Amino acid sequence: MGPTTDEHIDLGSLLRPGTRGIAAPGCAVCESARITRIALELEDGSHVEFTNCLDCDHRVWMRGDEVLSVERVLDSARRRTG
Ligand SMILES: [Zn+2]
Repeated sequence: MGPTTDEHIDLGSLLRPGTRGIAAPGCAVCESARITRIALELEDGSHVEFTNCLDCDHRVWMRGDEVLSVERVLDSARRRTG
């Protein structure tokens, strides 16, 4: 049993109006609104957000306004073993 993800994470703070180029309300590729967003805390304590588009299957990891490579996320997550 791992820690459960709190539902009260303030996603609204990531979607400030006037902030351009990041955290678009829809998919960054096809602009679909049919996306899934999941906020996670990695083993190293960083908070990341995973977005998955249900239409074009585009997937992106974000930390704040920074786009993370999958390799970097996996590297952080991998530290839980050992
Ligand atoms: Zn899309």
